Amino acid sequence: MRVFANPVGSGTLWFDNLSTADGTPVAYDPQARAFLPMPPFCANRSVIGCNWIAPEQGAFCRACAMTALAPDPSIDNAILNWAKTEAAKRWAIDNLGRWHWFRPEDPGARPVFHMLAEGPTPVPMGHAQGVVTISVAEADPVLRTTRREALEEPYRTMIGHMRHEIAHMLWWRLSLREDFLDAFREMFGDERISYPDALQHHYQNGPPQDWRNYYLTSYASAHPHEDWAETAAHLLHLTDLTDSFVASGLTSPELPSPGWDPYSETDAQRLIHIAASIAVGVNHVNRSMGLSDLYPFVLSSYARHKLAFVHGWLRRGAQGL
Ligand SMILES: [Zn+2]
Ligand SMILES: [Zn+2]
Repeated sequence: MRVFANPVGSGTLWFDNLSTADGTPVAYDPQARAFLPMPPFCANRSVIGCNWIAPEQGAFCRACAMTALAPDPSIDNAILNWAKTEAAKRWAIDNLGRWHWFRPEDPGARPVFHMLAEGPTPVPMGHAQGVVTISVAEADPVLRTTRREALEEPYRTMIGHMRHEIAHMLWWRLSLREDFLDAFREMFGDERISYPDALQHHYQNGPPQDWRNYYLTSYASAHPHEDWAETAAHLLHLTDLTDSFVASGLTSPELPSPGWDPYSETDAQRLIHIAASIAVGVNHVNRSMGLSDLYPFVLSSYARHKLAFVHGWLRRGAQGL
């Protein structure tokens, strides 16, 4: 994620800021990728702290307009959790916009979000025919950590959920074009095998012993759809952590040149190599604060191959190229 200029003074603004350091209200314009000091602000600004601009007074911003179902406000913490969930969504949507997804130049469908609070029974997250369902309850750190531990996952965040579920939607978008499916099946396997059977097998028997040689996560080994979604989410993780590193003014001998833009890089293997080296370094930085690793994953050569495949399609796909 980039770091932004303050439109009314000196200093910088971060993507989630609602105001400048001296208190002037500002809003993010996703089309210009810049902050503005004047309305129209998103109609959700006072409800969930959305900091994007709206096309007109009283309207929703581009991201909030994708939410067709908001959580039941009578459920405990639903609005607070929804606010955190929408913040993760805006981040993921803006990242994808760097590759033209869901911007005016993209002629395809936008994702439709169902943001659901949880009562006593968990809400399964998922995607079907362009509709992305997200459990906002997982914005609660205790619940999310409990599930992460139960599933023995090294990493579980709302931005990770967003990238994973939107990745399923992107697969669906890409599957509408003729040249994608054959290439996909050659790389990831045939996604027409039974999804419920594959998932049941995964949860009963666990992943294959050697999954680390072929998959980024054990869950990715469950079914080609999940391998795609995990791989696409990781491509977004890697590209964006590199973008944030560069935008913050940090440097590394691996970086090609000042001003290098990871989202414009055409050479996927180069991008993955640089991202991996930054991840290793920042993992070490995090340990100095007793925090968990920024990127607790190892990239096998197989995984790098699949990441490069996804990179090619996500860079071109929104433009029909
Ligand atoms: Zn909004
Ligand atoms: Zn999935």
